Amino acid sequence: MGTVSNLGYPRIGEQREWKKALEAYWIGELPEEQLEGELKRLRLHHLRKQQAAGVDLIAVGDFTRYDHLLDHSVAFGLVPERFAGLQADGGSALYFAMARGAEGIAACEMTKWFNTNYHYIVPEWTQESAPELRSNPWLADFEEAKSALGIVTKPVLVGPYTFVRLSKGIASGAREQAVHKLLPVYAQLLVQLEAAGAAWIQLDEPALAGDVDAGDWPLLSEIYHVLRAAAPQLKLMVQTYFDAVDNYETLVSLPVDGIGLDFVHDRGVSLRQIAKFGFPSQLVLGAGIVDGRNIWRSDLTAALAVLDCLKQCIPPERIMLQPSCSLLHVPVTLKHEKKLQGIERLALAFADEKLGELAVLRTALRDGISAVKLELQDNALLFDALRQSPGRNRFAQTSVSMDDGAAFSRRSAFNERRKAQQAKWNLPLLPTTTIGSLPQTPEIRKARQQWRTGKLDDTAYETLIRAKIAEWIALQEAIGLDVLVHGEFERSDRVEFFGECLDGYVFTENGWVQSYGSRCVKPPVVFGDVAHIAPVTLAETVYAASLTSKPVKGMLTGPLTMLNGSFVRTDIPRKEVAFQLADAIRAEVEALEAAGIGMIQVDEPALREGAPLKQREWKEYLGWGVEAFKRTVGTVRDTTQIHTHLCYSDFHEMLGAIRDMDADVISLETSRNHGTLIESLHSEAYDKGIGLGVYDSHSPFIPDTAEMERIILEALDAVPPELLWVNPDCGLKTRSIEETLRSLRRMVEAADRIRGSL
Ligand code: GLN
Ligand code: ZN
Repeated sequence: MGTVSNLGYPRIGEQREWKKALEAYWIGELPEEQLEGELKRLRLHHLRKQQAAGVDLIAVGDFTRYDHLLDHSVAFGLVPERFAGLQADGGSALYFAMARGAEGIAACEMTKWFNTNYHYIVPEWTQESAPELRSNPWLADFEEAKSALGIVTKPVLVGPYTFVRLSKGIASGAREQAVHKLLPVYAQLLVQLEAAGAAWIQLDEPALAGDVDAGDWPLLSEIYHVLRAAAPQLKLMVQTYFDAVDNYETLVSLPVDGIGLDFVHDRGVSLRQIAKFGFPSQLVLGAGIVDGRNIWRSDLTAALAVLDCLKQCIPPERIMLQPSCSLLHVPVTLKHEKKLQGIERLALAFADEKLGELAVLRTALRDGISAVKLELQDNALLFDALRQSPGRNRFAQTSVSMDDGAAFSRRSAFNERRKAQQAKWNLPLLPTTTIGSLPQTPEIRKARQQWRTGKLDDTAYETLIRAKIAEWIALQEAIGLDVLVHGEFERSDRVEFFGECLDGYVFTENGWVQSYGSRCVKPPVVFGDVAHIAPVTLAETVYAASLTSKPVKGMLTGPLTMLNGSFVRTDIPRKEVAFQLADAIRAEVEALEAAGIGMIQVDEPALREGAPLKQREWKEYLGWGVEAFKRTVGTVRDTTQIHTHLCYSDFHEMLGAIRDMDADVISLETSRNHGTLIESLHSEAYDKGIGLGVYDSHSPFIPDTAEMERIILEALDAVPPELLWVNPDCGLKTRSIEETLRSLRRMVEAADRIRGSL
């Protein structure tokens, strides 16, 4: 009665063994058989760990060599034409080429998995795509678990609907046709799993938690009728997460055996839906009650209250206790955290600890809460302590009015500010600048590593950073850039760097999560109220400015980007955390201004990322998001020029919000989407300073001067010359010194030539 089911386990390993093995293989240091051996070892180790943690239904298909969506595309033969030469191989060369590109072949596009920081490889379709089952990795993993460990696992696939929704090259009108091509492949795959003795199959359909066209529901019903009929012995669980599903009644009428819902990120909606419409008696409920994407311990009392409500409509034997989503989004284990102490440690739960919580909840469900009395007591004490923690109550009494947006609007309108700024700086038309970071050479990375581990003292490290700043100020002057930067040499990760200098943040030693491919990030934790302690960027910026008569832009990370790159406390609304961050960063802005820095860039590349799954909630999100930005920069003088960099933020969708941010200059990444961006600029003029990246700073390929000129001219079709800036797409920290110098020289030359012709 009552089972624990997991939706997916992190791949990376307790010490990022997965990453290390892959990267060693890519540089040719690990032969393929050894890579396969290491991956198998990890796969089985993860199964054993979950078994030991008491998980009744363990997922397979969650493990991968790069990305699970890519596994689907390759298994389904959805291989874009440009990889045709690698087809014959069929093995890892093709697979990794799709993931990472190969000589002369662009990699498949990568994008964020809903509103998480996990990036998947986007399936690519064309009119001619004809999916077929080329391999069945789910079957292989299922059989491996069964034969090696005797575990009957639960294969996890992305459901056909979500797969199609996330694919590129399928217009909304062609969804049905794509589904029809794909269904026989899924059916065949399920038949094989059924024959191998699988019981449950989980089909992830998180797209259902976003906006679903009314016309798509009949298609969903068709999908699950077909799959049901193909493998009648299998139990199908349609798994949703990240939000509630609007069309609950239709969802629970799908012809499947179980429906998985997220009770953590649904703001109570699912419980209300169940209370109102009931839950069909033939279905099993996958109850996601432990947060799968944040690192806090569960409030067990609250989780039990949810279970109590559920029990009123659903017999406990038909409830599966689950994390709210795959544990892919959280670090593996607290075991190796040696520095976190006291409440800062007690309050956290990574993947392994979350499985432990599910086991406790299962005991409570089976044997009543008296069976978990001690656990509940400890947990209640923890939450009391958290509520009373001084670090979380800093602003309780003094809290600035949260909605006082007007206080943070710039004093004058843009046109007046522009005149004042132009009078002060006297910049040429088409001013040239960069986005902030300059090459992080191995020398700098190594020095930082040594400094962090105490092998290099503060003075030696600072001396090196200053030497780099001085070197690059001179280089930027020599190249002829109009607005210079200090180069961000002292920063490894933009979020972690600022977090380290703000009160309220806590850091883990080993809290890595996969971001994309082998790349992992270690998000800092917003544990308490955030506050500015001391200037973070002042010394380096002022030093850089002292070396030149040209303007030097200060470089800060904005509140939304800090929020999205951190694990954030959930006891207060995100908006409130964003405002605390804004207030802290504003202190930095004001310190820079007071020290004579007259241009300040506050990066918000994560503006789009944090948007909710459902469009109707965007207005509210963007409302407080814009307010947080204004709260960060709104108090500066007219002559202080505020820049922001948004990477590629879906300019068109975000245009209203970007306007409201009221920055003096925005810079956007355009190389991936130049045409569309210029089109949106044609149709809806943007009337403040704007820099459209003239080359892709993530690519080693540098366009020649003529190509950059062409891009500037194209931009000038849509933007008046007095508003257009010339800059690369994004930061240059991943580029080599030579690439950076060459590309910037061409960029400045291109701007010069066009200026001459204006
Ligand atoms: N200023 C940052 C940089 O140049 C911007 C980072 C970003 O856009 N992601 O690196
Ligand atoms: Zn960027």
